[in-house]
Amino acid sequence: MTRPLSELTTMQVGGTPAELLEAHSRDQLIEFATGVWATGEDWLVLGGGSNIVAADDLSELTVIRTLNRGIDRDGTRLRVQAGENWDEFVAFTVDAGLTGVEALSGIPGSVGAAPVQNIGGYGQEVADTITRVEFVEYPSGEIRVLEASELGFGYRDSIFKRGCQGVITWVEFELSEGSPALLDRLTQAIGREVSTPAEIRREVLATRAAKGMVLDANDRDTFSCGSFFTNPIVSEGFSLGIPSEAPRWLQEDGSVKLSAAWLIENSGLRKGFSLGASKAAISSKHSLAITNRGGASGEEVAELARFIQHQVANRWGINLEPEPNLIGF
Ligand SMILES: Cc1cc2nc3c(=O)[nH]c(=O)nc-3n(C[C@H](O)[C@H](O)[C@H](O)COP(=O)(O)OP(=O)(O)OC[C@H]3O[C@@H](n4cnc5c(N)ncnc54)[C@H](O)[C@@H]3O)c2cc1C
Repeated sequence: MTRPLSELTTMQVGGTPAELLEAHSRDQLIEFATGVWATGEDWLVLGGGSNIVAADDLSELTVIRTLNRGIDRDGTRLRVQAGENWDEFVAFTVDAGLTGVEALSGIPGSVGAAPVQNIGGYGQEVADTITRVEFVEYPSGEIRVLEASELGFGYRDSIFKRGCQGVITWVEFELSEGSPALLDRLTQAIGREVSTPAEIRREVLATRAAKGMVLDANDRDTFSCGSFFTNPIVSEGFSLGIPSEAPRWLQEDGSVKLSAAWLIENSGLRKGFSLGASKAAISSKHSLAITNRGGASGEEVAELARFIQHQVANRWGINLEPEPNLIGF
């Protein structure tokens, strides 16, 4: 069986892989992965397809899709199958009166992909609550349970983005009962303090929707991968060359995180920008998102991304790093 990745990704680009294997259980996921690895073919694990830009020709690729679902709860500890929908999992925790992931409401995709780039937003990231993951290592097929301390979590980063290849079958979280920690970034964004997981979820969903950051079939600005570039981290000395009105966040090690959105907007690129007749455009609501306005090709998305990188590098001397995974380019 196969289907084009344009039907299985939120950016809605990508050709048809040679084969699409849909794993409905942990055991099937392991069987498919180790089976494909034994053949030596090119492979990709696909969750919700919300952080992937796929090329137009994928005829050599085998895709393994995680559709294994289930949440096992033991008090505040939850073991969640990789194919579980991330936002449905967040809703489950909020309904259960637990705190720890509610500020990550509305992020599309699967639970299995959450550790890959240590998803985060509004003052929370999954590195704060993940305790362990089960991981099938490529190419050996060895099944290991990795502790959070072994996952190399950083800002939108983990060992899985740095060459550690394989499949995550389940993720374990340790959440808390009681009141959530105060989230400064959320307070800043909405202009007041909110204090229960349910309130935080409601506010985050509303704030994200206003920026086109919650999937909505009627809003082309959400046909994207969310933020296309990570916020660059530079030395304090380098940051002095960036105008003082640019948003900046001092990091614990003395480096400075800059706003990629500000850098893009101040490189002469406005919201809604596209190259000629290209069907890929910067979102009309958020300058950090590249969107598919309808029928864009993977190459059009990649071309716009390269153009933005070029403009920012020319104007500010900073190389923006793509956040999504570029497949087959
Ligand atoms: C509108 C929108 C808003 C977004 N907002 C945010 C945000 O606020 N914060 C944020 O951090 N991200 C955000 N994202 C990005 C994206 O939702 C997250 O990165 C999400 O975790 C991707 O999950 P997925 O299942 O869709 O992964 P996919 O796109 O399917 O895969 C992403 C990567 O993870 C790998 N992968 C997937 N599943 C597994 C697995 N089980 N084992 C091993 N590797 C795996 C894939 O091979 C690929 O390399 C946003 C995206 C969109 C479209």
